[in-house]
Amino acid sequence: MNTHSLGYAVHVSDPVPISVTDPLPNGEARTFQPISTTLVLGARDAVLIDPPFTTGQIEEVVAWVAAAGKNITAVVATHGHGDHWFGDNAFAQRFDAPVVATAGTIAVMHGNVEARPFAWDRLWPGQIPDAPVTAVTVPEDTLSLEGHDLHLIEVGHTDTERTSVVHVPDLGLVVAGDALYNGAHMYIGESAGGGLAAWRDAIRTVEALAPRSIVAGHKNRDLDDDAGRVIEETRRYLDDAEAALQECASATEFFQTMIDRHPDLPYGKTLLWVGAKILYALREPGADPVAAAVGGWF
Ligand SMILES: [Zn+2]
Repeated sequence: MNTHSLGYAVHVSDPVPISVTDPLPNGEARTFQPISTTLVLGARDAVLIDPPFTTGQIEEVVAWVAAAGKNITAVVATHGHGDHWFGDNAFAQRFDAPVVATAGTIAVMHGNVEARPFAWDRLWPGQIPDAPVTAVTVPEDTLSLEGHDLHLIEVGHTDTERTSVVHVPDLGLVVAGDALYNGAHMYIGESAGGGLAAWRDAIRTVEALAPRSIVAGHKNRDLDDDAGRVIEETRRYLDDAEAALQECASATEFFQTMIDRHPDLPYGKTLLWVGAKILYALREPGADPVAAAVGGWF
């Protein structure tokens, strides 16, 4: 049956502070990104996508999901970065639903678990629940919600490897994870060596789905989800980053250039700085990729 139309709702978790107290090069304090969580809503059932990762955020979002009053049929992770899925098991248990992801996302999840002691648990000590990988794939990467399809579509490299988006054709909706950003500086720290070109390909894949609405994994809650604007602004940010990477001789200069070019973005400056530090560290002869990646944060 496919008679009742779907809806969606978004909760944006506020940026959490991180354990590193050194200010950013512009003097501002370090915080993480806001994190978007989406419910795709049927009449009775709903699918939950990308719940947040610290115990405080999880508590708040559990209450939000419970208040929607729906039967949760799946908890979906769009990509392997822990901020979008370390909370998944808490929601799966509370709402008795499986955790679902693509094969690529599941592979990257394992890497994020291995990285916890070196990064995640140092940045948020004691604040992230135990998070074994429990996600499973589903046939054709497709979920059914009261007769409507939700397609998990692998889009390749975006802000990490092997990412996916959730396409809900009957809503004209793409829940984009970090393939698209909306009102926040972007994390390009994993985009050395052609990553930005791959990211543009991913955006083209999303654009070809002709969505009306895009929920970005990191968004300013005061902005709408207009797909055309979100795509255009994400592309422009990547273009600006690529140009600045050519022009700027240091991470600090790159950071300040991006801040100056995007005075309208209140969020994500810590991620901008982390990405800049990583990419400029990798320019050094003999740079160790793991040391560069961890060093970006600390
Ligand atoms: Zn991410």
